[in-house]
Amino acid sequence: MINLKIDGRDVCVPEGTTILEAAETAGINIPTLTYDPRLGPCGDWDVCVVEVEGRLDFPKASSTVVEEGMVVRTETPAVVNVRKAILGRILANHPLDCLTCPKSGACKLQELCFKYDVKEATGVKTREERPIDDTNPFYYSDPNKCISCGKCVEVCAKLQCAKVLSFVEKGPHKYVSPPFGTAIAQSECVSCGNCVSVCPVGALMPKSKEVFRYWETEPVRTTCSYCGVGCQMDVLVKDNKIVDVRPADGPANGGLLCVKGKFAYGFVNHPDRLKKPLVRKNGKLEEVTWEEAFDVVVSKLKETKEQYGPDSIAAFSSARALNEENYLMAKLMRAVIGTNNIDHCARL
Ligand code: SF4
Ligand code: SF4
Ligand code: SF4
Repeated sequence: MINLKIDGRDVCVPEGTTILEAAETAGINIPTLTYDPRLGPCGDWDVCVVEVEGRLDFPKASSTVVEEGMVVRTETPAVVNVRKAILGRILANHPLDCLTCPKSGACKLQELCFKYDVKEATGVKTREERPIDDTNPFYYSDPNKCISCGKCVEVCAKLQCAKVLSFVEKGPHKYVSPPFGTAIAQSECVSCGNCVSVCPVGALMPKSKEVFRYWETEPVRTTCSYCGVGCQMDVLVKDNKIVDVRPADGPANGGLLCVKGKFAYGFVNHPDRLKKPLVRKNGKLEEVTWEEAFDVVVSKLKETKEQYGPDSIAAFSSARALNEENYLMAKLMRAVIGTNNIDHCARL
């Protein structure tokens, strides 16, 4: 174990712990712009700098490992000045677009500039304007807002294992794209949207059909209803309508989603969605109560079984139902109807 002091507090953590992790265990928050514990320190531009007694530089808390007897200060005037300088340099290559940027309210850069009262860029713009890539049906990439943190590259390669994104060009000119600057639609992208979920700014954004501000939404923790993996997510709701989805850190998904969980939520509020049972009467579908609908199902199944035998009936069950419901469907077919004609959409 390593003993150190952070902001005057005694902290004892295992060897190999970073200053950022040690501070967290002591309940001290060191601000970060791009850090993600699943990906480790990312990019050159994080603001998680701290002061360490005896050192002349300002090491990054997310990549500096604790040492015995270390004395760390996380929010001195000198540290704040370095953070301001970093933010000012980032703004030199980032449009001051908060009035109309759809990420406003959920942007880490905006949040930190507000915290440290950084209003304008320091230094000169080094990057040329590039066109937005909106060739993917679910999200777009605006390279002019990219802060080159590399989180999208890392999540795509290490967690989604798709390796679609990389940095194209070098130094201050670098930007994120599929190799050789090709369009996303021409790449191997599987549209999982995990790059969109980790982007700290408005560079990778969902193509939302709704106009909303993030502060108008209410997150509702739920389980994805599309398949048996059971990914956890927060649906962001405005006026009783889902407008965006954020992956949650569930045991099955660890903050990731696939294309269905992330983007395919339109069915929930779709006007064609059936919300009441319908029974065809005289060739026309009519709304009925559940009791009446069940009576029709039971009488038709009985009638068919009596007339043509149990093997004239088959059931096709769904991965969007629970395991227990699929089990009950198998019981209904095998034990009640008396047929083995049961299958499941996962075998389509
Ligand atoms: S959507 Fe998924 S596969 Fe496509 S670039 Fe982003 S992380 Fe990679
Ligand atoms: S697109 Fe977003 S996540 Fe990717 S490098 Fe740029 S700022 Fe970082
Ligand atoms: S997000 Fe994808 S993998 Fe996860 S439960 Fe939904 S459909 Fe299944």
